[in-house]
Amino acid sequence: MELRPETRAVHLPQPEITGSRPITVPIYQTSGFVFDDPAVFADAMGRPDGSFVYGRLANPTVRSLETAVSGLEGGVAALATGSGMGAINCVLLGLLGPGDHLVSQKAIYGGTAAMINELVHRFGITVTYVPEDDPEALRAAVRPETKLVYLETLANPALQVADLPGMCAVARELGIVSVVDNTFATPLLCRPIEHGADIVVHSTTKYLSGHTDVVGGLAVFADDALYRKVWHFSVELGATPDPFAAWLTLRGLQTLHLRMERHCSNARYLVSRLAAHPAVSAVHWPGLPSHPSYELAGKLLPDFGGVFSFELAGGRAAGEKFMAAVRLALLAPSLGGVETLVMHPATTSHRSLSPEELTRHGIGEGTIRVAVGIEHPEDLWADLEQALS
Ligand SMILES: *Cc1c(COP(=O)(O)O)cnc(C)c1O
Repeated sequence: MELRPETRAVHLPQPEITGSRPITVPIYQTSGFVFDDPAVFADAMGRPDGSFVYGRLANPTVRSLETAVSGLEGGVAALATGSGMGAINCVLLGLLGPGDHLVSQKAIYGGTAAMINELVHRFGITVTYVPEDDPEALRAAVRPETKLVYLETLANPALQVADLPGMCAVARELGIVSVVDNTFATPLLCRPIEHGADIVVHSTTKYLSGHTDVVGGLAVFADDALYRKVWHFSVELGATPDPFAAWLTLRGLQTLHLRMERHCSNARYLVSRLAAHPAVSAVHWPGLPSHPSYELAGKLLPDFGGVFSFELAGGRAAGEKFMAAVRLALLAPSLGGVETLVMHPATTSHRSLSPEELTRHGIGEGTIRVAVGIEHPEDLWADLEQALS
């Protein structure tokens, strides 16, 4: 058939690749896929593991990321989303309904805390908060309508460590789905599924992508039925990531282990210097014997990550002065990138919390949160030290 230019411009020739394949994962920047067989087309619409059909359901670049992280976490499948909150909401909204009860640890990511408040105030879901390391408190909080337990491996900004084996064992015994946000630990420091978790969620915006250039999220499932349930909901919700974002994340993932080594060793060095500084009244990092989670962290984690916080003896005024004085460290939200970022939670990430909620999260007026990058540790200490004086 002789086609006109307008038509030929629409029907581009497909690249043919035979006898070899790309070393890296290509970006499949397409919203949909074409079929030769109508039966295969029909089958692909209803399940996550049929042929690729439409970008909101699945995409080959995105699938590579899902398979890679699922493998690292020891899950059976994963669902990538456009943000960490997208993954968390697919799980919470996909599994909870009106009248259900949720048990959450006390200190959780601010966006998750805000979402749980929405669930309570608008959707008739109830919540009980328990300490992250108290399986008996969890057992006591469970009711017949309890559906889900929500934990974080390492909580922001005081770095409490959840007793994953203890908490997940109680959840499993009582038939409740356990969800663990493993963003701060990454699968290199902790694989919650090995400790009994049913679902692991990530903000891939942070360490997994690692270069402060992409927003993304991911949920990993220990169980295929849970995966399918949440996948169906995610398709309806539309929390899909863009293939390019998935590609950037895959690219970051390849160096995760190298970056994490440096994040951890930089944190270890800086917390030891800060702990000895007269302007600092406390340092929170689970690798320090003074941290309440020190013993549990030693059992659960080979190292303790690149995020820590410290208290300035001078309170809020000292916190504001410190933030104005740092030069190398950047005043910015987020974490997990190669650059060191500092923030003052009381005036930024946690500003909407009441004084009681601030205390629940372990935040004071003079708390500084540091997400250490991969720079040379002496350069970082020189900056923090000049800002402290
Ligand atoms: C950043 C973060 C989230 C939210 O992820 P986004 O990608 O910003 O949506 C959730 N949990 C933790 C622990 C985080 O640090």
